[in-house]
Amino acid sequence: MLLLTAWFLIPCFMSDLSSPVQLIDRFGRTVDYLRISITDRCDFRCVYCMAEEMIFLPRAQVLTLEEIYTLAKAFAELGVKKIRVTGGEPLVRKGALELLGNLGRIESLNELVITTNGSHLEAMAGSLKEAGVKRINISLDTLDADKFKAITRTGDLQKVLRGIQEAKSVGFEGIKINAVILKDRNHQEVNGLVQYAVNNGIDISFIEEMPLGVVGQHDRSAAFYSSESIKADLTRNFSLVATPEKTGGPSNYFRVAGAQTRVGFISPHSENFCSACNRVRLTVEGRLLLCLGNEHSVDLKKLLRANPGNTAILKQAIIDAMLIKPEKHEFNIHEQPVILRYMNMTGG
Ligand code: SAM
Ligand code: SF4
Repeated sequence: MLLLTAWFLIPCFMSDLSSPVQLIDRFGRTVDYLRISITDRCDFRCVYCMAEEMIFLPRAQVLTLEEIYTLAKAFAELGVKKIRVTGGEPLVRKGALELLGNLGRIESLNELVITTNGSHLEAMAGSLKEAGVKRINISLDTLDADKFKAITRTGDLQKVLRGIQEAKSVGFEGIKINAVILKDRNHQEVNGLVQYAVNNGIDISFIEEMPLGVVGQHDRSAAFYSSESIKADLTRNFSLVATPEKTGGPSNYFRVAGAQTRVGFISPHSENFCSACNRVRLTVEGRLLLCLGNEHSVDLKKLLRANPGNTAILKQAIIDAMLIKPEKHEFNIHEQPVILRYMNMTGG
C-alpha cells in the first residue's frame, strides 16, 4: 500500500500545470467528473432531502458565480470532462443561465449536464439548451399529484410534467427521470413511472435513499426499499435486459425490451459502486468534497479568496486533494445519520 501511495504521489510533486494532467486518486481511480451545487436553496422541501424548516447559508458563505466558474475552469484544466450543475434547485439561483453559458464555452469539457426538480423547466428548457446543456436529469418520484405534494411538501406535479414535455420538445441529447423510492410512500409507483418513461422515450433511474442530514419526517431504515425489490416489482410488467451501458455515473442499466428506455438503479446500500467512482463535488460553500458519504474535503473557497487570480495554487490543492479521497462511502441506512450535511448543500 505504501508503494502504491508513493506511485500516485508522483503527479503531485512533479505537476507541471501547463501540460495535460489527470486527477488520479490513491486507489488508481481517474476523477474526470465534477458535480457543483450552485445553491442550497430550493422551492421544494423533499422529505428525503430536507427538513421542513431549513436554515439556508448566508450569501457571503456561498460561492459567487464568478468563483464557481473559476473553480470549474481549474478542474477542466485538470482533466475534468463532465460537469453537472445541481443544488439545491439550480434553476432558482439568479444568474444560473449565464453561469451555464460560460461553463458551456469551456472547450475541453465534453459534457455539461444539470439535475433539476423540473419546476422551472417549462420556462427555461430552451435557454438551457442554448446555454450548452446537453443532458438533463429531472426528479420525479410519483405521478400522483397528492403524493407528489406530500413528498415534495410544496411541489406542483402538473408544472413539473409540463416542464418535462418542454424539455422533450427542445431536444436535449438525453432526459432522465430520477426517482428516490421510499417503502409505503411511493414504492407502489415504480411500474407507473417506468411506463411514463417508456411512453415519453426517456430514461429513468431509481435511487435508494441516502442518510444525509436529519430529515425528521420519516424513519429512513423503515422506508428503505432496495433496488432488488424494485426490480422484482418491475419484472411483473416489463422485460428488463441487462446492459453494460454507462452514463458516467453509478447507475446499473437495463433496457426495457421493445422500448428505447433504460432503467437504472443507484444502489448505495445494496450494491456498492465505489470502486468505479470517477467524481468529486464542489459544495455550495466551496468545499471540494471527495466522497458523498464521507466528510473528507478541502476548503477551496478560502484558498480562492486568499489568493485572487492565482489558479496555480487552486490546481495544486485539487491535485493534492486526490490523496484524501476515501475508498468508499460509509452510509448505513439503519443508523442515525453521521453525516449532518444535507443533500442540497452537497450537490446530489
Ligand atoms: N433540486 C434538484 C433535484 O431535485 O433534482 C437537484 C438537487 S437534488 C439534491 C439531486 C438529486 O438528489 C435528486 O434526484 C434527488 O432526488 C436526490 N436526493 C436528494 N436527497 C436524497 C437522499 N437523501 N438520498 C438519495 N437521493 C437524494
Ligand atoms: Fe429541492 Fe432537489 Fe432537495 Fe427536492 S431533492 S428538496 S427538489 S434540492
